[in-house]
Amino acid sequence: MSKIHILENSLANMIAAGEVVERPSSVVKELVENSIDAHAHNIQVSLFEAGRKKIVVEDDGEGMDREDAVLAFKRHATSKIATSYDLFKIKTLGFRGEALPSIASVSRVTLTTSTGSGVGTEVVIEDDELAVKDAPLRQGTIVSVEELFYNTPARLKYLKADFTENSNSIEMMCRLALAHPEVSFTFYIDERKQFQTTGRGELLEVIKDIYGHDVAKKMVPFHFSNADFAISGYLGKPELAKASRYFIITLLNGRNVYMPKVQTSIIESYHDFIPPTRFPFVVLSFQIEPALVDVNVHPSKKEVRFSKEADLRLALLQNIPLALREKNLVTEIAVAPKTEKISEQMNFDLDLGTKTEPMPTRPIPQASQDIHPLAEDVPAFNAYVAPEKTLTSLRAVAQLQLTYIIAEGPDGGFYLIDQHAANERINYEKLQRLFNRDLVVTEPLIPIVITLSPSEVTLFSETKMALLRAVGLEFEPFGVNAYKVTQIPVWAKEYDEKAYVDELVYEVLHEDRLDIPKLRTHVIATMSCKRSVKANDRLSLADMQYLLDTLLKCDNPHACPHGRPTIIHFNKYELEKMFKRTGV
Ligand code: ADP
Ligand code: MG
Repeated sequence: MSKIHILENSLANMIAAGEVVERPSSVVKELVENSIDAHAHNIQVSLFEAGRKKIVVEDDGEGMDREDAVLAFKRHATSKIATSYDLFKIKTLGFRGEALPSIASVSRVTLTTSTGSGVGTEVVIEDDELAVKDAPLRQGTIVSVEELFYNTPARLKYLKADFTENSNSIEMMCRLALAHPEVSFTFYIDERKQFQTTGRGELLEVIKDIYGHDVAKKMVPFHFSNADFAISGYLGKPELAKASRYFIITLLNGRNVYMPKVQTSIIESYHDFIPPTRFPFVVLSFQIEPALVDVNVHPSKKEVRFSKEADLRLALLQNIPLALREKNLVTEIAVAPKTEKISEQMNFDLDLGTKTEPMPTRPIPQASQDIHPLAEDVPAFNAYVAPEKTLTSLRAVAQLQLTYIIAEGPDGGFYLIDQHAANERINYEKLQRLFNRDLVVTEPLIPIVITLSPSEVTLFSETKMALLRAVGLEFEPFGVNAYKVTQIPVWAKEYDEKAYVDELVYEVLHEDRLDIPKLRTHVIATMSCKRSVKANDRLSLADMQYLLDTLLKCDNPHACPHGRPTIIHFNKYELEKMFKRTGV
């Protein structure tokens, strides 16, 4: 007797649902994407009991006639692609024809739809049974999903607390809204409005509608394009830096996707501006010729592949710092009045969880457990950045604890400069300039031999050698486990040749995902650190003045290469306030 049989349709759908419908937020995503594909202008989403009880998505899109409304629940039924040729130039969000049958296989679905002509249709599906009847004529579609996972107890159990499921859905809705400024979204959880966007087509307005005015004010516009792709969107100023990667939002051709390489490039491009433990707040939209993109990697289309990724990376690494640098970024100290209530210090609604911006000038207590996870971010330091201030001169006054320089500026108050951080910044920019010149190489002054451990020898591949060649180093074998350096950049002589070689070889051997820009950045940062005055170095007034003058000539004098601030300003107003002087 044969043992193979074709799975029943309902079972096949449930299996597909395993991939597409993971939790309430995936239902939200699939339904909203259908509404967007149907060219809706207004989409309203309502969740009840975190979506376990009911999820309703209502749109004013094209709607479906009766035949389509029934067909839509068949697996692989789609209006979006027809031939394999179409698969390589997908312009819609959906195309697999899986979402509706999958959702219907794990819940009770009611679909009400109309194209605006003839009579409307209502389709109710429960336990694979379809009931069809007439419905009102209003053009558009309403999909109501009830009792999600009622027949898959394992899935149901796997759902997290309401709070977590809600925050996943909020996150999903935010991203959908950011990806489609041309659509007006209204989002409710248990009848409470979470946010509403206007649908006027302005990304910055959507950012404001979702994250609030304070955040929108601190976004820097960003545009870049070449023959293969166009990037546009907003870069959060360094002060908006977050404790998680959550706020690096990348959209590809209107689709919210996770692009690991792009994300890393964005993080690296902020290297100069924020501390290494923080992540930027960024909303960037990428337009790439659909033929270069493969969205058919994963059923949920969360991850995509595309060619030209290396070019994209370079474009981000070069242009994001330029856009950020246009602003002047001195760290400004502000003193929090002690009398203020905690609730006033937090500019967000604990229940809503969407207005996540803490007041940037005030210290925020550690997030308590009932604060929405999206809101747990705390400003990087008890300080904020004042872009309008342009610092042109500083007069060194004294050295403090052999670590800080006290200085006076033109605008009253005083400045504290971290001498090591400042010197690092100076060296960093100097090295960057040296690196960007044509690489002139020479033989090392004193012979340099590097000895590797056996495991390191096996790691020292041709690709790694090529990387090192790109930063001016050439090697030849020297015995069994040693190499002699035959070539080194001329400028390295000025520094410490041996340190340069050691640092690079170590990094190349032990860091797998290294490319040339990353290697350069790394070596520049470590070399500049090694060369810099340390804390506990005594400086003369003249040394200090020289350091300050040179610092202010830097492109980005306000942060060390690791993103920590170099200059902190104690302004006159705050000082007078602290001393309770008259008039303030
Ligand atoms: P896909 O989106 O991959 O085509 P779905 O199962 O999500 O597959 O939807 C099946 C089909 O139902 C779609 O191709 C579309 O024609 C139709 N459809 C689904 N939702 C809507 C909607 N909100 N408005 C109009 N048509 C819809
Ligand atoms: Mg779909």
